[in-house]
Amino acid sequence: MSTNITLNNGVTMPTIGLGVFQTPPDETTAAVTTALELGYRHIDTAAAYGNEREVGEGIRRSGLARDEIFIETKVWISDFGYDETLHAFDKSARKLGVEQLDLFILHQALPSEFEKTVGAYRALEQLLEDGRVRAIGVSNFMRRHLDDLRAQTSIVPAVNQIEVHPYFSQPDVRAANAELGIITQAWSPIGGITSYRGDAATSTFANPVILGIAQVYGKSAAQVMLRWQLQLGHSVIPKSVRRERIAENFDVFDFSLTQVEMDAIDALEAGVRGGPEPEDVTLATFGRAIPEA
Ligand code: NDP
Repeated sequence: MSTNITLNNGVTMPTIGLGVFQTPPDETTAAVTTALELGYRHIDTAAAYGNEREVGEGIRRSGLARDEIFIETKVWISDFGYDETLHAFDKSARKLGVEQLDLFILHQALPSEFEKTVGAYRALEQLLEDGRVRAIGVSNFMRRHLDDLRAQTSIVPAVNQIEVHPYFSQPDVRAANAELGIITQAWSPIGGITSYRGDAATSTFANPVILGIAQVYGKSAAQVMLRWQLQLGHSVIPKSVRRERIAENFDVFDFSLTQVEMDAIDALEAGVRGGPEPEDVTLATFGRAIPEA
């Protein structure tokens, strides 16, 4: 099991990244420096998370060279459209304090105004051609959105970041990604959304099947879920602000699940989405502006 994944344009991406959604700005720098100290080399943020500046600060404080760290961020829907997305790159790069991004992705499709989504993606293609970003991709795209995008643009996304955890594993979108050579990157990879937006007692962390497998290997539920994701070929971006969990979530390369265990976790699929229904995302409901600074 490699610690890196090669994207469809040849760029190498560290398989595990630190996620920082809902990490408060005043805790973000410490989470990022801790992760980088513990061996992470990939951070996943977004313009909409409001903590790109603090991610940039954590990267600088780590003392690592810029080219040792893979920085991924996302354009929010209020910045969709060709010119707007070129400007969104400038905003994100400025806040992060970098010249170039490793992976720049559309945070959502805007199904009701798909022409804006296409304009935004064409801007990503231009940024790639200009060398401002090393790879481009999408997030929360369903099969139909991928098809519609492909019909109107020329570069296949390198990554589609989607909700994937044992209770909602999206086999159809993962199959579409695989058919197109797109890496599936799992958000809420340990099912965090099943606990912070649900009931801890019925979350993935408390699942008896997962805990049973964890016991076999002397690992935690989170580690078993991350291992399941890696063996499915996914990139993962678990979020934590706690040092011991940041370390735990990276310590998943010294054991391996059997096919029977993989199948048992696959069978936990419950078909209940934690995040917004991608088809229903509109500027009216989710279109808050991203500040310039
Ligand atoms: P995760 O599956 O990463 O779970 C995070 C939650 O689990 C937090 O509450 C965290 O709390 C807790 N946690 C972390 N590690 C452990 C552990 N080892 N044991 C027990 N609990 C743990 O969910 P997220 O929703 O945060 O998703 C991860 C990342 O995916 C985000 O940070 C973001 O980068 C991305 N994302 C993308 C979305 C998109 O639309 N593209 C949507 C949602 C997320 P604590 O911090 O206190 O440890």
